[in-house]
Amino acid sequence: MIIFNKISSMTPTAAGRIVWLIFLFPCTAAFSQSYNPVVDVLHYNYSLDINDHDDNITGKAEITLLIKEKTNAIPLDLTQKNGEGKGMTVTAVEEVLPEGEQSLAFIHEKERLLLRSNVNPGEQHTYRIFYHGIPADGLIISNNKFGKRGFFGDNWPNRAHNWLPCVDDPSDKATVDYFITSPDHYIVVANGALQEEKLLDNHRKQTHWKESIPLSPKIMVIGAADFAVDHPGDALGVPVYNYVYTENKDLGFKSYAWPLQILPFYISHIGPYPFEKCGNVQSKTRFGGLENAGAIFYFENSVTAPDIESLMAHEIAHQWFGDAVTETTWEHLWLSEGFATYMTNCYLESRYGPDSLEKQMRKERNKVFEFEKKRMTPILDTTVKTDYMQLLNPNNYEKGGWVLHMLRRRLGDSLFWKGIATYYSTYRNKNASTTDFKKIMEEASGQDLTTFFHEWLEVPGHPHITISWHYDIPGKRMDLSIRQTVPAGQQPFSFPLEYTVDGAPYHIDIHDANTKVRLTLRKKPVRVEPDPHVSLLADFKTTEIKP
Ligand SMILES: [Zn+2]
Repeated sequence: MIIFNKISSMTPTAAGRIVWLIFLFPCTAAFSQSYNPVVDVLHYNYSLDINDHDDNITGKAEITLLIKEKTNAIPLDLTQKNGEGKGMTVTAVEEVLPEGEQSLAFIHEKERLLLRSNVNPGEQHTYRIFYHGIPADGLIISNNKFGKRGFFGDNWPNRAHNWLPCVDDPSDKATVDYFITSPDHYIVVANGALQEEKLLDNHRKQTHWKESIPLSPKIMVIGAADFAVDHPGDALGVPVYNYVYTENKDLGFKSYAWPLQILPFYISHIGPYPFEKCGNVQSKTRFGGLENAGAIFYFENSVTAPDIESLMAHEIAHQWFGDAVTETTWEHLWLSEGFATYMTNCYLESRYGPDSLEKQMRKERNKVFEFEKKRMTPILDTTVKTDYMQLLNPNNYEKGGWVLHMLRRRLGDSLFWKGIATYYSTYRNKNASTTDFKKIMEEASGQDLTTFFHEWLEVPGHPHITISWHYDIPGKRMDLSIRQTVPAGQQPFSFPLEYTVDGAPYHIDIHDANTKVRLTLRKKPVRVEPDPHVSLLADFKTTEIKP
């Protein structure tokens, strides 16, 4: 996802749900291990009816679950209708049994829907939930910039349960079918592959999309608008489809052509594209871009955005990282945003050369430093419990990207990409934590990366490096004193430091606060340059000590 600065302070609607989770599962250990320890959703089948008269949606959700814990009340997430008339009203719940349907009691309170069913671990059950209402959030129903009505899912981070009954957490991934009944002027797009478009009576139609790859709710999506649809081609077998407002047809088809360039880079470096298609959709998303699986949403004016190439490269990178390999919990968001940030830089490097990468890494390094002045937290930030929008910050994006950059510099290109590809193939369609990623990179490289992962992910800040040097003319020697200062109370970082003296390269492994180096040089140097290849997340000062 790419955010606009103005929206980064928006708050999601998660607070209420955390309260009931603690109420339901008072054991905090269980809470920290699993968002919903009772069920594992296997499949969602959503039938939704949308219309042009009002913003009410009518839904039928058929959810197939694997039971993990014995219970008589199955908890799901669904926002209840509030005092302002927004939210969902459940009219009936039934279990689908071989002999027919059996109606079930339920409790719907705030953001929790409890299905009254006696179940045991290992059992599989399918329930149907009938509901309707005006979504309070999660499905944007509004007019676009041309005054035309449209429907756009916008679920990140946990806003899906405003319109879809689900387990609204990245840890629970499931396949999904959508049967969308709409006025027939709409083109409906969603995750997965298009199965059928069927005309109905009264100028209505039903569109069926099927996603056979398990998704977390944050990237489930439908879009319905008066789209013009383009199929500019396939990229190494991946069909690219672009959906733009009819009024932006010519402009949009042209500016959305980048996936044909971007996909081959990722496929060759990371592994096969994970989804049925690469759909790119002009939309009303509140974000700059949102990486919905196989149906990426971009902001309305993206068709004229000068940085559309890097925006698309970011969202497309998420198809591998964030979507196919999904972080276990929000704390590990850098595995999604840091990866998308750095993969974009690598793609741009492949097109525009190594200088473009160095320039970008410098820019992103400064962004990390600016953020540290406002908020000094490690990337693995366990303090954000409800307002996940707070995690959309330079720690998870730029510093996360920098962690990968330093890892690449340390391991070299071949081992780095080998590790990245193995991480993807190992955790594709699953969830992964930072520890999982570390293990894969250690196995790929044969290196112990404990200190590296600890210092850059679990510790806030970065080293401030001062190189003071002095040249002794009679002795023909240069003495360098390399000093690192770190945030108060922290241990010094360990890192390889590159520097040049009048263009000649030197390298030293730093572990301490103060390191001394002596070089024999025939004449007094003019210039000392630390980190010439932009390989270290640090700030630098050099001073000559004159006698
Ligand atoms: Zn992103």
